[in-house]
Amino acid sequence: RKMLLKELKGRESITLDGHKINIYANIGNCNDVENVINNDAEGIGLFRSEFLYLENSHYPTEEEQFLAYKTVVEKMEGKKVIIRTLDIGADKKVDYFELEEEENPALGYRAIRICLDRIPLFKTQLRAIYRSSAFGKVSIMFPMVISLEEVLELKEIVNEVKKELKDEEILFSDAELGIMIETPAAALISDLLAKEVDFFSLGTNDLTQYTLAIDRQNRKLNRFYNSHHTAVLRLIDMVVKNGHENGIWVGICGELASDLSLTDTFLKMGIDELSVSPGKVLELRNKVVNFNMDNKNN
Ligand code: PEP
Ligand code: MG
Repeated sequence: RKMLLKELKGRESITLDGHKINIYANIGNCNDVENVINNDAEGIGLFRSEFLYLENSHYPTEEEQFLAYKTVVEKMEGKKVIIRTLDIGADKKVDYFELEEEENPALGYRAIRICLDRIPLFKTQLRAIYRSSAFGKVSIMFPMVISLEEVLELKEIVNEVKKELKDEEILFSDAELGIMIETPAAALISDLLAKEVDFFSLGTNDLTQYTLAIDRQNRKLNRFYNSHHTAVLRLIDMVVKNGHENGIWVGICGELASDLSLTDTFLKMGIDELSVSPGKVLELRNKVVNFNMDNKNN
């Protein structure tokens, strides 16, 4: 009997051979949380924090950010919420950042490149995220990493923020720290990066763009933008292996996570988490609960 998708609500995402997969959802603002809950996602795998900056005409204050993160964290009632730090730049521009025009914005001043350059701004966001961690289960994820040095610098800033909060006697929890793997450089050194973080989440949209040298915004190139390219899939496989060899979990939060034609491939690679738009959670769970590793036809 074909199962109705709504019958999958409240069920765990476990394959027929007993592997538990975490199916999380991606959100772009606080209002999306209702959709996450209605579709019974097991957590939030990518909370794109950019909206806070894009919808404001000034840098959002620590308090404004704290309230937004806290709202989401509380609504998720103890389920994991992975907040991605600021990923502005490239296609996402905000006037008050006063970013210069760039010849190649996708290869330019964006994401942690801005944060590591404007540390007070970055610390404000980290403080707000840590404060929200007292209200549930928060993880922090950094976008656009390319080097080990960046990760060490990010962790140092995180430690300074935690120390400041402790000194001020502000409550927070010990959030898991992870990085997005969305550049070929990060994928290729994922064995080294895995020793410094608690998890990896593959950003396949950018990973495809940078691996294939295809602008993800350029519609004219749509037929060449192929996330199924062997190069991309090999990088994903490598990242999962390197993560597991170092004892950390590995997920996918790019669009590819919801591509049902690849679910079997990802499950065979041993992926631990897939984060998709809320409306795709149950379809994906249906795929997972019917998958059997031992079945040669998969
Ligand atoms: C990605 O690059 O795959 C990703 C999830 O991040 P964004 O789409 O926000 O760049
Ligand atoms: Mg990205």
